[in-house]
Amino acid sequence: MTTADLWPRIERLLSRVERPSRYIDREWGAFHTSDAGYRAVLVYPDTYEIGQANQAIAILYSVLNTIPDVSAERAYLPWLDMSALMREEGIPLFSLESCLPVRDFDLVGITLPYELSFSNVLETLDLAGIALRAVDRSESDPLVIGGGPSAFNAEPIAAFFDAILIGEGEEALAEIVAVHRAAKAEGCSRSETLVRLAQVPGVYVPTLYIEDRTDGGFAGIEPIDGAPVVVVKRVVADFDALSPPTCGVVPYMDVVHDRFGIEVLRGCTRGCRFCQAGMVYRPVRERSADSIVRAVMAGLACTGYDEISLTSLSTTDHSQLEEILRRLSRRLAGSGVSVSLPSLRVDAFGVEMARLVSAGGKKSGLTFAPEAGTQRMRDVVNKNVTEEDLLGSVQRAFEAGWRRVKLYFMIGLPTETDADVVGIGEMVSRVLAVAKAATPPNARGSVRVAVSVSTFIPKAHTPFQWEAQIPLEEVRRRQALLRETVPRKGVELHWHDSDVSFLEGVMARGGRELADVIQTAWKAGARFDAWSECFRLQTWLDALAENGVDPAAVANRQRSVDEPLPWDHLSAGVNRAYLVAERERALSAGVTPDCSFSGCTGCDVCGDLGVDICLAGVSRG
Ligand code: SF4
Repeated sequence: MTTADLWPRIERLLSRVERPSRYIDREWGAFHTSDAGYRAVLVYPDTYEIGQANQAIAILYSVLNTIPDVSAERAYLPWLDMSALMREEGIPLFSLESCLPVRDFDLVGITLPYELSFSNVLETLDLAGIALRAVDRSESDPLVIGGGPSAFNAEPIAAFFDAILIGEGEEALAEIVAVHRAAKAEGCSRSETLVRLAQVPGVYVPTLYIEDRTDGGFAGIEPIDGAPVVVVKRVVADFDALSPPTCGVVPYMDVVHDRFGIEVLRGCTRGCRFCQAGMVYRPVRERSADSIVRAVMAGLACTGYDEISLTSLSTTDHSQLEEILRRLSRRLAGSGVSVSLPSLRVDAFGVEMARLVSAGGKKSGLTFAPEAGTQRMRDVVNKNVTEEDLLGSVQRAFEAGWRRVKLYFMIGLPTETDADVVGIGEMVSRVLAVAKAATPPNARGSVRVAVSVSTFIPKAHTPFQWEAQIPLEEVRRRQALLRETVPRKGVELHWHDSDVSFLEGVMARGGRELADVIQTAWKAGARFDAWSECFRLQTWLDALAENGVDPAAVANRQRSVDEPLPWDHLSAGVNRAYLVAERERALSAGVTPDCSFSGCTGCDVCGDLGVDICLAGVSRG
C-alpha cells in the first residue's frame, strides 16, 4: 500500500514541541528500503531517546532489513506534547524512516521491555489508528506482534496483540514474516493467518487460548484450533554464529546508552532466585573473543562512537573477558575510545577487569550488586557472594584510585526479617569504612557510597513466583528502618518508588482480568508510567476498583505451588519441579552452584530446547 508521506505535516509541528530531533529521520545507519514488497515497523513504546538504545530492536531491525524484499522501519511513542498536537491535527503515529502511518505496514512489532510500558502499548495503537483489541481488528489492519522480557507473562497485555513471540527473535521473526507473506499471497483471512502463525515455534496467539474459569476462579488456559498446549520460548542455539549489528543507527540527539553496544553473551546461570532474566534467558551462550573484537572494530569504524559497552546479563562472567579487554586495549591504544562494563562481579577478578578498562583514564565509579545485607539472606536468594568478597573488592578498588562505589540491594525478599534490613545498613557502614581506610587521608572527603534499594517483586518463571510481595505500608516501614541504619555522611541513599513497584507487581503476576484495567487506566490518562513525573498510582487504583480487581490479591498473596498460574501455557524451558526445588532450597537458605562451571543442576532448559551452554573459552566435554 502506498500512502502519503506525513513529513510536511509533521515538520510544521516541530517548532512547537520539546526535543524535535526525536521525530526526524535520516540518522546515520538507518535503512531506507521502503519499496520492499513486505514492510514491517518496529515500535518501542517510549520516547526515541529511551528506545533508540534498545539492542533487541537494533538486532531485529538489522535482521529484517537483510531479508530480500522485506524492509523494517522504526517508530517511537511521541512525548505528550507531540501526541497532543498530532491528535489535534489528525496525524497518526508514523515511522521514522519514511514518515508513513504505522497502520499501513504489514507488520507492527511492539517490544514489551517492562510491565510499566503497558499503557504506552495502548497509546501506541490508538495513536496509530489501529483497533486496541486483536478481536476488533479488520482484514486490512496490520498484524500486531509483541515480544520482549515482559512477554513471559503476557496475559495482562495479551488481548491487544494478534501474536506474541516468546523468547529470542532473530530466527523466529524471519519465520513469522515468511508465514505472514505466504498467507497474504494465498489470500488467507486474518483468522486463518493467526492459526498458521500459532504453529511457528515460540509464537503465542492469545485468541487461540481460552481461559477456564469454570469454578469461578482461574483454572488454566486451554488452546483451540490446533494451537500448542504450551508455547515454548525460542532460543538461538549458535549465538556466536549470529553477526551482531555493527553499523547501527547513530542518533542526532543525546540518548540513553549513547555508545556502541555489543552483546557479548546471552543468558546467565548464576541462579539468583529473584531474577527473571536469569531464569528465562538460559542457557549461557558466549560470543568468542575473535567475534567480539572484530565486531567492535567494525562498529567503531562505521559509527564513529568513542565509547563501547560490552553488554549482557553478567559481562564479567564471560570466560574470555580478560583476553577481550587486553586485545581491545591494544587495538584502541591512543584512540581515545573507552570501554564500559556494567555491574561487576564481587571479587578480585571484577576489580581487575575494571582496572583494565580504566587504565590511564577516568575512574568514574564501580557498581556491585550484593542484593542483601546478611549472609543468610544472600543464601536465600542464591547470591553466591560473601561480605569478605565485597569488602575485599571495595578495598582493592579504592586502593587503585576509585572514590565512588554504587551498591544495589533489595528489600522485601522472602523470609526477610528486620535484622536483614538492618544488615544492609551495617554492610554499607563497613563498606564506607573500608573505602576510607583504603583512600589516602587527603582524599577521604571525596569517598562516596551510593546505595540503591529496590523492592522485591516476585516474577513469573522464577523460584519465587509463588511468593507474596510485601504490602506498600510494610515497604515504607522497612524503608524507614533502613534509613535509620544507613550512615548519612558519605552515603547517598536512593529508593525505587514503592508505588511503582506495587503496580509492577500486579502486572507481573496478573492474568487476563488486567486487560480491562489497563484499558481503563489508559483512558483515564495513564501513559509513560515509567516516568516519575507521569506516574499516578491513583489512576491505576481507580481502574482496578472500577473493574473489580483487588490488587493485593494479585501482588501480595502467597500462592500454593499447586495453583494454576496465568503463565503456565508459556514456557521458558525451565521445568516447574526445578523451580519448586529451588524455592524449597531458598526457604532453608541452601545454595545452588552456577551450572556453567559446576555441572548441570537440572533445570532442563538444555535438554528441552536442544541447546547447550557454550563458553567460548572453556571446552566442555
Ligand atoms: S539444563 Fe543444566 S546445564 Fe542447562 S542451563 Fe539448566 S542447569 Fe544449566
